[in-house]
Amino acid sequence: NHNCAENNVFYQAMEEVIYSIAPLLQSDEKYRKHGIMERLVVPDRVIKFKVTWLDDNNIIQVNTGYRIQFNNALGPYKGGLRFHPTVNEGVLKFLGFEQILKNSLTGLHIGGAKGGSDFDPKGKSDFEVMKFCSAYMTELHKYIGARIDVPAGDIGVGSREIGYLFGEYKKITSTYEGVLTGKPFFFGGSLMRPEATGYGAVYFTESMLEMEGKEPLMGKVCTVSGAGNVAVHAIEKLTQIGAVPVACSDSKGTIYDSRGIDVELLKDIKLNKRQSLTKYAEVHAEAKYIPIEEYPEGGHAVWDIPCYAAFPCATQNELTEIDAQNLINNGCVSVTEGANMPSTPEAISLLQSHKVCFAPAKAANAGGVVVSEFEMSQNAAMSKWGFAKVDERLKETMQMICKRVALTAKDYGVEGNYVDGANIAGFKKVADAMIAEGI
Ligand code: NDP
Repeated sequence: NHNCAENNVFYQAMEEVIYSIAPLLQSDEKYRKHGIMERLVVPDRVIKFKVTWLDDNNIIQVNTGYRIQFNNALGPYKGGLRFHPTVNEGVLKFLGFEQILKNSLTGLHIGGAKGGSDFDPKGKSDFEVMKFCSAYMTELHKYIGARIDVPAGDIGVGSREIGYLFGEYKKITSTYEGVLTGKPFFFGGSLMRPEATGYGAVYFTESMLEMEGKEPLMGKVCTVSGAGNVAVHAIEKLTQIGAVPVACSDSKGTIYDSRGIDVELLKDIKLNKRQSLTKYAEVHAEAKYIPIEEYPEGGHAVWDIPCYAAFPCATQNELTEIDAQNLINNGCVSVTEGANMPSTPEAISLLQSHKVCFAPAKAANAGGVVVSEFEMSQNAAMSKWGFAKVDERLKETMQMICKRVALTAKDYGVEGNYVDGANIAGFKKVADAMIAEGI
């Protein structure tokens, strides 16, 4: 249904991929002959269901749950669950479609999927979150399995939610298997899964800067949007390598702390206590809090702060053309997408036309799904890897993805264009598997 506004983000994601791979479709007729594009853009299965639960006042609440199993040519369906009021079928189709190519780029055996609900965990008690997760899993368990479909976290779904979902799955099926990733370490999670996406985005950026002949991040001012799982761990890794991340944001405002963000405080406020970023400015009077009412028109305060490298890590379409222009005016050298599709198409073209190194989400934020696959391997083998092993393999994989994307771009005559490189490399592998597996 092309008139349906909720599909706009899905069309946006699809259009970018189609533009990138058009030369490949033209030059290699096998992809056309096998109808790959026509097949790839339609999910294998869209599962939509009602989730009913009782809130703390014993009032019945009704939400909509989804799981979109998009493509399993390369392995079991894999992709996160998002709990946020903005979740609808279009948003999940965009995320699921991106996930197919992202998972393909990792070189691991995982297919693409995404799911979630319009349930808002914000302001709910632990008990309400638990009751919602149980009700959601009562239906979802029919469709998932360690070799079928392995969901993980995303916006609004962290280790607390994964724990409740896992508990319910176990209760219904009596099986203790790696059916979800992002579990807490002490009952089957992998070390470094919470850190993986943020750390991975920084590893990718270092690799990209080196390949593009730019100065490394050490000593450089960086800006990050978001204050969730991805943003906080990107900030943590930047701090560890000697960069100076000076900004972060949540849905209500932005913090600018020119001395570098206090990561421990940020973790406590946002990840542990789930409070507002205003608390940060209450503790550090030197830091400036900018509420959304004071953002530049059509833009975001974070991207107005001068930086060497920018890391959008909150949500889709949060970095506009106006923001891109501000980054360029302030001499920004690289933009790395930690969130999924945070930059608008206009912003990406502008950044690329000004030779800003641009790392697209499906390559740069693959670290989370990479360590999720490590978690699946550990669960299947009933083993546990140490921190150093996970970190080393994550770093190696991010470097491998970066190299592969850069070399693919070069091979197809678009050197330096990581968007095209990622789309072409990701597409080819899935497409070749689809051809080999028949229709
Ligand atoms: P979290 O829920 O942990 O954090 C999301 C952050 O973004 C919060 O600070 C939230 O603010 C802010 N935010 C969310 N929606 C909006 C909005 N509409 N406007 C402004 N700010 C918003 O999510 P994650 O960190 O896990 O995910 C962030 C992004 O990274 C998403 O695009 C996700 O798909 C992507 N991603 C996540 C992976 C993971 O491993 N977790 C893996 C790969 C990609 P507030 O605190 O006020 O709600």
